[in-house]
Amino acid sequence: MSVETQKETLGFQTEVKQLLHLMIHSLYSNKEIFLRELISNASDAVDKLRFEALSKPELLEGGGELKIRVSFDKDAKTVTLEDNGIGMSREDVITHLGTIAKSGTADFMKNLSGDQKKDSHLIGQFGVGFYSAFIVADQVEVFSRRAGQPASEGVHWSSKGEGEFEVATIDKAERGTRIVLHLKSGEEEFADGWRLRNIIKKYSDHIALPIELPKEAAAAEGSDAPALEWETVNRASALWTRPRTEIKDEEYQEFYKHIAHDFENPLSWSHNKVEGKLEYSSLLYVPARAPFDLYQREAPKGLKLYVQRVFVMDQAESFLPLYLRFIKGVVDSNDLSLNVSREILQKDPIIDSMKSALTKRVLDMLEKLAKNEPEQYKGFWKNFGQVMKEGPAEDFANKEKIAGLLRFASTLGDDGEQSVSLADYLARAKEGQDKIYFLTGESYAQVKNSPHLEVFRKKGIEVLLLTDRIDEWLMSYLNEFDGKSFVDVARGDLDLGNLDSEEDKKAAEEVAKTKEGLVERIKSALGESVSEVRVSHRLTDSPAILAIGEQDLGLQMRQILEASGQKVPDSKPIFEFNPTHPLIEKLDGEQSEERFGDLSHILFDQAALAAGDSLKDPAAYVRRLNKLLVELSV
Ligand code: ADP
Repeated sequence: MSVETQKETLGFQTEVKQLLHLMIHSLYSNKEIFLRELISNASDAVDKLRFEALSKPELLEGGGELKIRVSFDKDAKTVTLEDNGIGMSREDVITHLGTIAKSGTADFMKNLSGDQKKDSHLIGQFGVGFYSAFIVADQVEVFSRRAGQPASEGVHWSSKGEGEFEVATIDKAERGTRIVLHLKSGEEEFADGWRLRNIIKKYSDHIALPIELPKEAAAAEGSDAPALEWETVNRASALWTRPRTEIKDEEYQEFYKHIAHDFENPLSWSHNKVEGKLEYSSLLYVPARAPFDLYQREAPKGLKLYVQRVFVMDQAESFLPLYLRFIKGVVDSNDLSLNVSREILQKDPIIDSMKSALTKRVLDMLEKLAKNEPEQYKGFWKNFGQVMKEGPAEDFANKEKIAGLLRFASTLGDDGEQSVSLADYLARAKEGQDKIYFLTGESYAQVKNSPHLEVFRKKGIEVLLLTDRIDEWLMSYLNEFDGKSFVDVARGDLDLGNLDSEEDKKAAEEVAKTKEGLVERIKSALGESVSEVRVSHRLTDSPAILAIGEQDLGLQMRQILEASGQKVPDSKPIFEFNPTHPLIEKLDGEQSEERFGDLSHILFDQAALAAGDSLKDPAAYVRRLNKLLVELSV
């Protein structure tokens, strides 16, 4: 080995230490994936080189086939991977193999439970890449040189995976990266040609460049025989360029794991070739699980972009709207130029039409999943439902399609699970029902018992129960579905339309007339707290309720805005009372104006509490209530 200079020992970032520890203890059941991860990195490194060499051909250093070589030494108990890709400089090695760049990693680490089975799932979502080498090795060495740098700028990285690593500058004649795994005792089985070949076939057949192993004959003679002959063991062609009918599900699944850095199989995929005015292929995947950083602004999103089979960029965001940011995949265009940049992508009209076509493909794929595999779709909704709810606001053109994919909890369910589609809802609507009723609130427990639902329960009308933070905002973008408009049951003067018979309406009007005096009395008692007082026809059990004005902000939106420090326009609720409730009858007969005032305020405050709101003056509420209690007990 060449001379080492500038040797130093550095500590891993805390998160790396945690990850290494967990990985070694959690990922024992499927150890062979280390090879997939390292090959995946090597293939990315070659992609990067190929791309950079378009503008700087000298990086290819005279040519030679781009490839990955895997070899082994049974006696030394080592497995070695070598690629002639972009390579790493000393600084690259220190940052890439000593820290984790993903934002939110520290938070992610906090979520790990210590339960190894559960954590191995989480780690899968997180993606471990290079560090998976330590699943089978107790020492890992990396020799690398960045393309374009002189041979004297090579770097040697070495670590036992325990907390620190060493780096030194070395001479390295060949561009690229060589990784030597010193296998742990008990893992010697991986220093075996047959075993390595099988692992490569199983996980990395789809890798678009040749992966070579020493020829069996040479290898069989053991480590002493110089392995001069190599053979390619994978198919070595870009998966998306092959006809759909020839690709096995397993191949699609492994390809997904490579591009998405996910350990789990995807839920679904859609592979298409478009020819005509535009020419491109796309392979889009729906992951089974939300990545830990789905809501992080800087989290990776977007597709891998290739132009005529050459990798051009990762995370090309311009091909899908933001609410579909969880979709993984590849687009390979024949129309774009190889030196396309992010800025160009944002402006290019070609991209717009590709974006709308790809968006439609994803929505179609989700529709199909919902229809053919409802159980899988449930899982999808649990993971990505909240993000899909951003859709109607962002993607006006596909509003109806997205609405069809939404799932809600409803008064017909009893567990709050979001499983009702709008089509389900309409299919079991009451005769004459031409509205979709919904109620928003803080939590399922709160809305499920809301007095606003009383009349609906009595009439057997289903109401959608919306308790995600985003729901009220979502509903402000959804006006109708299948020609039926949405009605917030806590808002305005509830009109049940055809669901109320003429007699019911007449009777209600009659009652309202007889209570005009009471309405006026309450109005003057509550004064500035309310915008209006009226007789309710939506209550059966509760004495009173607060309705939101037709144009006013709902409680949820108000709370969100207040929490973010914004000024919220003042709006007063409408106080509705149930004329047949014994408390209201008592109130009506109350002679003392003072007691009438106290009771009215108590009813008002109670209605606010039932709606999940907080009281403006809780002490006054307690004082009034206690006063009544004292009067009761004497
Ligand atoms: P990820 O691949 O998810 O970014 P890894 O931990 O697998 O995470 O790798 C970290 C980084 O190290 C990569 O992003 C890449 O920059 C660099 N790297 C790893 N393997 C190689 C390689 N064979 N050649 C060049 N760079 C590599």
